[in-house]
Amino acid sequence: MSDSVTTKTVKITGSKSDEKNLQYAAELIRQGKLVVFPTETVYGLGGNATDPTAAKKIYEAKGRPSDNPLIIHIAEPRDAELYAYTSPTYYKLAASFMPGPLTVILPKKDTVPASVTGGLDSVAIRCPSHSIAHSLIEKAGVAIAAPSANLSGKPSPTCAEHVIDDLLGRVDMIIDGGESEIGLESTIVKLDGEKAILLRPGGITFDALCCVLDDVTINPAVAEQLAANERPLSPGMKYKHYAPSAPLTLLSGDEKKVTEFLLAEQKAQRTAILCYDEEISLLKGDSNGELLIPIGNRDDLDAQARSLFAALRKADSLGAEKIYAHLPNMNGLGLALYNRMIRAAAHTVKNID
Ligand code: AMP
Ligand code: MG
Repeated sequence: MSDSVTTKTVKITGSKSDEKNLQYAAELIRQGKLVVFPTETVYGLGGNATDPTAAKKIYEAKGRPSDNPLIIHIAEPRDAELYAYTSPTYYKLAASFMPGPLTVILPKKDTVPASVTGGLDSVAIRCPSHSIAHSLIEKAGVAIAAPSANLSGKPSPTCAEHVIDDLLGRVDMIIDGGESEIGLESTIVKLDGEKAILLRPGGITFDALCCVLDDVTINPAVAEQLAANERPLSPGMKYKHYAPSAPLTLLSGDEKKVTEFLLAEQKAQRTAILCYDEEISLLKGDSNGELLIPIGNRDDLDAQARSLFAALRKADSLGAEKIYAHLPNMNGLGLALYNRMIRAAAHTVKNID
């Protein structure tokens, strides 16, 4: 898509015009056009999932390599039947986690063009819980293919302003539905009979999956760096992701020493620090604290998930030359934070002893 498209931006406010705006957006989807919409995870860049031309436009608008497949979004869990070969395991997951932040990879049917799945014979399916996303899919009457609505490589958008920064003039419509509730992309699970492989951690945690299924494993690429010659199960894992412009380093080690290190580093360059709320006064020192970006309390993983991507974008907008953040632990939602942060940092971790 050229840069000359006129983008209509609307805000969903709970007023009478919402219905008209969503009808219009659904019509655009049916016509093969692109609509950005809010979901409970992050904003999605949507197009008709059965239209190969729409898929091509999505890849172009994002600048995304076309071998990195798209997730298709459905209104009801049973709509998966139209696009994929389901299984009892799929319905077990659906009963517990759909609608919600879970994507399931299943063998695909011919209704989904190869361009949507990057040529794979499987398709990623999600049934979002966000009322605007649900209403848009239902009104469109077709599944909506939607990757995160950021330019490829940038942090995913968690509010309409991020989308406008990246995609104004590249999509036909942007629906502003406020801030994303979860702030990290969906959990992705690939099914192989009764076996489930966690490919991307998200709002549905590994522990939650284990409560429902007997056989769940975590793909090593979730937390580790792939060797150059390794082929990932999820093509997206091989790409640089979530990256701010300035280099990000993750810090581990003794809390006090990490604080001392950060106080010293702040003096050297324009150094942004993604810090916990309770560290602000400690780290401020005699600076004005402009480059301290709070991401929530140390123990509040939900808040950290909600603010991470906005914080990475803020570090860029403040002109940071270097960014530091704490290396999260891998418990519960921490695994999803770890997975995004380690990629944003291109696996750069510094241990302070
Ligand atoms: P995004 O669209 O930005 O949320 O990213 C979607 C992620 O899902 C990417 O990492 C894709 O590689 C992955 N994905 C989508 N479809 C499949 C599939 N059929 N098999 C494996 N991974 C997939
Ligand atoms: Mg993405």
